[in-house]
Amino acid sequence: MNNPLLDLSGLPKFAAVNAGHVKSAIETLLAEARAVVEKLAADQGAASWDAVVTPLDDVNERLSRAWGTVGHLNAVVNSPELRDAYNGMLPAVTQYWTEISQNETLFAKYKALRASPDHSRLSAAQQKSLENELRDFRLSGAELSADNKARFMAVQEELSSLMSTFNDHVLDAANAFAHYVLSEAELSGLPGDVIAAARESAVKDGKEGWKFTLHAPSYMPVMQYADFHPLRERLYRAYTTRASELGSNPEWDNSATIQRILELRAETAALLGFGNYAELSLATKMADSPAEVIAFLREMAARAKPFAETDWAELEDFARRELNMAQVNAWDVAYLAEKLRERRYAFSDNEVKQYFPEPQVLAGLFRVVETIYGVKISAASTETWHADVRFFDVRNGDGSLVGQFYLDLYARDAKRGGAWMDDAVTRRRKNGAIQHPVAYLTCNFAAPVAQNGQMRPALFTHDDVITLFHEFGHGLHHLLTEVEELGVSGINGVEWDAVELPSQFMENFCWEWDVLKHMTRHVDTGETLPRALFDKMLAARNFQAGMAFVRQLEFSLFDMLLHTDFDLAGGSLLALMDEVRSEVAVVPYPSFNRTAHAFGHIFGGGYAAGYYSYKWAEVLSADAYAAFEESGVLNADTGARFRREVLARGGSRPALESFMAFRGRKPDIEPLLRHNGMKLAA
Ligand SMILES: [Zn+2]
Repeated sequence: MNNPLLDLSGLPKFAAVNAGHVKSAIETLLAEARAVVEKLAADQGAASWDAVVTPLDDVNERLSRAWGTVGHLNAVVNSPELRDAYNGMLPAVTQYWTEISQNETLFAKYKALRASPDHSRLSAAQQKSLENELRDFRLSGAELSADNKARFMAVQEELSSLMSTFNDHVLDAANAFAHYVLSEAELSGLPGDVIAAARESAVKDGKEGWKFTLHAPSYMPVMQYADFHPLRERLYRAYTTRASELGSNPEWDNSATIQRILELRAETAALLGFGNYAELSLATKMADSPAEVIAFLREMAARAKPFAETDWAELEDFARRELNMAQVNAWDVAYLAEKLRERRYAFSDNEVKQYFPEPQVLAGLFRVVETIYGVKISAASTETWHADVRFFDVRNGDGSLVGQFYLDLYARDAKRGGAWMDDAVTRRRKNGAIQHPVAYLTCNFAAPVAQNGQMRPALFTHDDVITLFHEFGHGLHHLLTEVEELGVSGINGVEWDAVELPSQFMENFCWEWDVLKHMTRHVDTGETLPRALFDKMLAARNFQAGMAFVRQLEFSLFDMLLHTDFDLAGGSLLALMDEVRSEVAVVPYPSFNRTAHAFGHIFGGGYAAGYYSYKWAEVLSADAYAAFEESGVLNADTGARFRREVLARGGSRPALESFMAFRGRKPDIEPLLRHNGMKLAA
């Protein structure tokens, strides 16, 4: 029993764990968990919290923590051995969670606990956790008759395979496309590194010229920079018809896949007793009903569209006057926006970056957090998975430990891209003592480099800084929780459309002069960020914000209507998209545009009847931040209230209640519109 993955005392034993430990540890923990489940099922005693929930939480937590360590290592120090070990155990772990979610005996125990006299003596957090469990059992089909359960399972299996097919089609269609430019003149406007990469790709294929594809690093710069408009049109057409009946290969046409996905979703909703799939999707979200979401989106659209129209008129005007273009097409939009942006806000990311050396940025971030939440963050040490990783303690003013976090900032080989927060340990009461929360904060920023023989600190772009604040916001939600029940502690049990509140909220500080003044220091001269440069950044922040805003609303409304009352037998996906566009959009889409056929968020991912969540959470975070604007952005009283009513509560009560306890009223859309520069002068 020398397996370090099974040693769950304290922090993960990163120095000792290797791929060879995974299989035996996870098999041991799965067996342990199943034994507990069987014992519970056989137990004839009265259902109480301590007899049912605690032992199951304990054993599931052991599994989650060990598996979480493996998943984390697989993401940040990937190796062929680790990947095999992870993939090797993934089906068994998934299988266990599915079993649990449909276990009728466990479901009966939870129901008995809900009905017992004991229930009224449970804490509010325990009661909320229990409600969530019962809901999730129902949504997993635990309450269905045997026949319906079998059908439910078959439908879920077919759905997940269709969603995967949907994604494969999009990817295959994108992979199959290549356009070789043979004349150098057609490359005009493209950045040098993009041209070099295109040449390299052509050489790899043994071809003349420059190869362009539909993958982001090739497609995006073409749309943004290529002066030669037929090149933009060629790529745009291929991109927006991929995986449709207008695409290059009928095998990858997603039309039938989409139809079947929608049918199966409707069937799932009907089996579980919902009127449509959107209602089922909202059962775990903060929004109450599809009608509420649709009304929300339409109200936003009505407010944002005039600003989008102004943005569009500016682009048309610019195209006519400066570029002699008589007509603006969909494939000109990104190009024109880039040209206009350059004209108006002449500053580069690189110029800004010189003012954001890592030590200054971290100190600035910690200063904000320490000031508003009254905590102290200090470097600590423990074993990690890489020499670049740092570890910190978060303590209250009286020195008591709140939680700890690992910070892994730099991109490197074998580390998954992107930025995320994940939990290593979740706060809970266990055997009478408090277990402190521990978070992983992972980013992929450029590492420090030597220049003229000297090491310089890592320099962050302003976008990097925003990303860091965002993930730190998720981290604080996890770390500052005061909940003692595993299921609703920290981000656990928080509604899906509210979980981005604390993270998006933190981004706002990156646009505050009072914050930036203390967070910037030119890497060579030591100067703080010049006010004039900051003003340009601010002005550029809302450039074309109206058009970006309505584009999000267009996708959101399409998604919501499609999953609410779309006529599956006679309706047309394209007609619905056209309707939504005529209501919301300002860009004239060409008739060949088939965006829905590659809308992976809703057909290949978890966002079905949920795409609106982006805007929904933005309303919450902007309105929460407005409370700080009203009181002074670094106001410790407002911070203490936000900590107490929102962050500390985690999932222990509905997000709306937490929000209202903090703000004293329901969420208001005005601050978001104002932050996007979309408020008419009074
Ligand atoms: Zn986030």
